[in-house]
Amino acid sequence: MRRKQLFLCIIQAKALFSQVVDPAATTVIRERLVPGVKVFEVVRSGEPRRKVDVAIVAEGYTADEEGKLKADLDRFAAVFFKLEPYRSHRDKFNLYGVFKPSPESGCDEPSHGSFKATALGATFDSLGSERYLLTEDNKSLRDIAAHVPYDALYIMVNHKRYGGGGIYNLYCTFTTDNQWYEYLFLHEFGHSFADLADEYYTSEVAYNEFYPRGVEPAEPNITALLEPGRLKWKNLTSPGVEIPTRWEKADFDAMDNAYQKIRGEINAKIAKLKREGADAAEVARVEEESERLSREHADKVDAFLRASKYWGKVGAFEGAGYAAQGLYRPQLDCLMFTKGTKPFCKVCEAAVVRTILNYTD
Ligand SMILES: [Zn+2]
Repeated sequence: MRRKQLFLCIIQAKALFSQVVDPAATTVIRERLVPGVKVFEVVRSGEPRRKVDVAIVAEGYTADEEGKLKADLDRFAAVFFKLEPYRSHRDKFNLYGVFKPSPESGCDEPSHGSFKATALGATFDSLGSERYLLTEDNKSLRDIAAHVPYDALYIMVNHKRYGGGGIYNLYCTFTTDNQWYEYLFLHEFGHSFADLADEYYTSEVAYNEFYPRGVEPAEPNITALLEPGRLKWKNLTSPGVEIPTRWEKADFDAMDNAYQKIRGEINAKIAKLKREGADAAEVARVEEESERLSREHADKVDAFLRASKYWGKVGAFEGAGYAAQGLYRPQLDCLMFTKGTKPFCKVCEAAVVRTILNYTD
């Protein structure tokens, strides 16, 4: 544990609240840690008080799956340090795996009629969104994670279905064995670690009108552009790019909305088949088709965005934060916008660097 001063709700550089956290205080609970938890040191670069300590808490791994867990930890550590700015700041991170075996493998999938007894109680269909994967069992999460020092929490869910979630300063979740595992792992951590917003706006989400009109979002990578002359990533904009930046939005929206409709239908079909106990081969066939369509669409989106004259430029592109109008993102593409193995946009990358430096003095 380290001594930290937390500043919350900083608006216009004015601290509204601050709290000193003192590890020596008598109010710190010093109960024995919960038993039956194993710790794996995946990456060690120095003393916790000088590093960003990331705990990856295993969810839905049985005792027999310890070998898979270790392989998964190594696989995701490699994914993490492949991406900038983590690659250049590798020496600022400690990574730990924390393992309490689950009685059953996987996690809950209510809309599929499937429920598993697991260490953290993670579940799909959170807040009514089929791919949103969260746990509300904060007590178990904290009891298990307490075996290591941590600044940031991952919940690694042993599952092949596409799903995840990330809440700033709380935790993020991701599934290990979907074809988009790299994207899920890095995208969700962007939310929970650096307060990055979703830059996408076409797919269905658990929130409606998440960002009220006329209010500038707190996140660093989207803007309501209320004062175009004072764009919050002004220092990173490309020379000669107009603000807002007109792009091929109508064509993109038509293409993406068409796919989102198919995606919704096929997901509903899979859920129905599973609930009704359909033949496993039939379910597998539809699941494979769903994954194939997802890949095909992502390739099409990549090609579309790369063909734009604004590819690689920093401006203010309309369409972000679940809103097709009135919110803007910094670049055509980013790890917070579309699926795939791709970099952060310049604005997201800078925000992640600031977060890393904030923890590491
Ligand atoms: Zn971005």
